[in-house]
Amino acid sequence: MVSGAVVSGTVADAKVVAGEVLRLDGVRKAYNPGTPQAVEVLHGIDLLLRRGEFCALIGPSGSGKSTLLNLIGLLDRPTAGKLFLQGQETGLLDDAALTRLRGRSIGFVFQNHNLISAFTAAENVMMPLLLDRGWPDAAMRRAAEALLDHVGLLRWKDSMVGNLSGGQQQRVAVARALAMSPVLVLADEPTGNLDTKSADDVFTLLREMNLAGGTTFLIVTHDPRLAARCDRIVEVVDGRIVADAPSGYSAARGGADIRTTG
Ligand code: ADP
Ligand code: MG
Repeated sequence: MVSGAVVSGTVADAKVVAGEVLRLDGVRKAYNPGTPQAVEVLHGIDLLLRRGEFCALIGPSGSGKSTLLNLIGLLDRPTAGKLFLQGQETGLLDDAALTRLRGRSIGFVFQNHNLISAFTAAENVMMPLLLDRGWPDAAMRRAAEALLDHVGLLRWKDSMVGNLSGGQQQRVAVARALAMSPVLVLADEPTGNLDTKSADDVFTLLREMNLAGGTTFLIVTHDPRLAARCDRIVEVVDGRIVADAPSGYSAARGGADIRTTG
């Protein structure tokens, strides 16, 4: 249990755990269900993430990591099983409610950062606030600038993000992901396109944000060095969780300390 943690929102299930941010019960996902091309790629995922956890999601290409992240990010719905965000069963929500919940609760950092390159750094970071509230104001700009300051980019606030380096762009994406003070940040290969130094810097930033705000992170990474810097490593193979342990231990490597590799 996480001390001092409070579960907010609608508690729709009596089993809710203290500090619970996310819970998956038997989640399955099939693409093209009911057609000859139907293929189930997630086969009953159980997962609990608590407030403040900094968790890596690893596994071979095609194992279902991005599919899982899309479900957790409320960008797609499971074909079976239940997904609870802060105790609220998301399967009961219509699309509009799901979109609202996503915008207010979840931050995303993608490999291809999905920034708008013709907008400035500050405008990109303001975007989630603008989408939520509908109109810009001075407080929003100040919030965006504070976030850019956190990620070390204040002096670039008025630069078009298309003119920034890959590492800088990913730092803008991190700032944007945190704009709504989400309880959960999902990152899909956030350092996949970066050189080692920039990757380290972005990862350090994610960790700082995790420690500063108690925000829960779930980070897909191929890099064993970065996975080892997480508190916990969940390993998916062929649509099933095959290992879930504190970092430093990987069942798939026969219990070898993964910090000694890569
Ligand atoms: P990972 O992120 O671990 O590489 P994905 O979640 O992207 O894995 O993919 C898991 C499996 O689902 C793969 O076999 C992939 O081909 C398949 N898949 C992913 N997206 C779709 C889709 N939209 N339609 C059909 N199959 C898909
Ligand atoms: Mg993927």
